Amino acid sequence: MNCKANFIMQKCSTLQHLPKAKLGYLPTPVIKLENLTRILGGPDILMKRDDLTGLALGGNKTRKLEYILGDAIKKGCDTVITAGAQQSNHCRQTAAAAAKLGLDCHLLLGGEKPGNFNGNLLLDELFDAHIHFTKENRKGEDIPNLVGTLKASGHSPYVIPYGGSNELGACGFIEAGFELSTQIGVDNLSHIFFASSSGGTHAGLMIAKSLLRHKYELTGIQIDKAENEANSFQQQVLALANSTCSFLNLAQSYRVDDVVLDKGYLETGYGVLTEQEKEAIQLLAKSEGILLDPVYTGRAFAAMVDKIQKRELPNDKQVLFWHTGGAPSLFAYSRTIL
Ligand SMILES: *Cc1c(COP(=O)(O)O)cnc(C)c1O
Repeated sequence: MNCKANFIMQKCSTLQHLPKAKLGYLPTPVIKLENLTRILGGPDILMKRDDLTGLALGGNKTRKLEYILGDAIKKGCDTVITAGAQQSNHCRQTAAAAAKLGLDCHLLLGGEKPGNFNGNLLLDELFDAHIHFTKENRKGEDIPNLVGTLKASGHSPYVIPYGGSNELGACGFIEAGFELSTQIGVDNLSHIFFASSSGGTHAGLMIAKSLLRHKYELTGIQIDKAENEANSFQQQVLALANSTCSFLNLAQSYRVDDVVLDKGYLETGYGVLTEQEKEAIQLLAKSEGILLDPVYTGRAFAAMVDKIQKRELPNDKQVLFWHTGGAPSLFAYSRTIL
């Protein structure tokens, strides 16, 4: 790590001393989307390439898993368990990380076993994960049972929450925010856009932003519909940001207005591909040769493009799209993507 990065890391000494498993090839590049900037005629568009974190086709979960699995290994666990959708990028990266670290991996995936394994699911199988199809239990409801069974057979399991979004996962994105500030002059940025779902990316970037006193607007694009207002995604990000600050002995805390989460692009809910995602995926592929995914980055990128086209962003500053990965699931959507 270079000198500037070291200086920044000292802003958060607890973070520096957490155990970490090395999984990513970091820093990821920051690039300019010159062709797309020209086509849209708005602000300069930058992209942080966390689709290139390097672990098994990349993605944002790699950064979270470095801290989460660092903890699992320190605690002497031999098995990891996590849950998600069948095309979960989090589950695929967890399976790959477990393979690399010599841990057993159990994945609980919602729905019925499909006839054909494709996209992330195919990769889960290649990484030799134990896959359980949990039907209507889509958010890990069956985990306690599995923990009991594994313990009874002499294993030491470690449960990773949905999307890897706990305090340790958020630490990966505090570090990511620090990393960005060693790469570009953030004073020129008006906005950072990214896809926000289980909230770890959002909480981590928020904390990095306030520790470094950055001024850009950090705008999460909400990907899933909330089940109820009391437990809205904004509340979940807020709770995680505050618990991560306590965990790291940081003095700051946040109010709900500090969490900027745009609900304007949800359409029909999680994982439902509509024209806006298709157009965004095709636009970036054709103009820059870069792949987005149908569930997360396709939606969030469509949101940013929409705001540029409506002239909602200042032309004399730059905007940055934080690419969080996910392209392997394109193959599972091959029939609907074009
Ligand atoms: C998980 C995921 C996200 C959302 O990140 P959270 O930290 O869960 O909010 C965004 N993009 C991709 C591709 C993902 O896999």
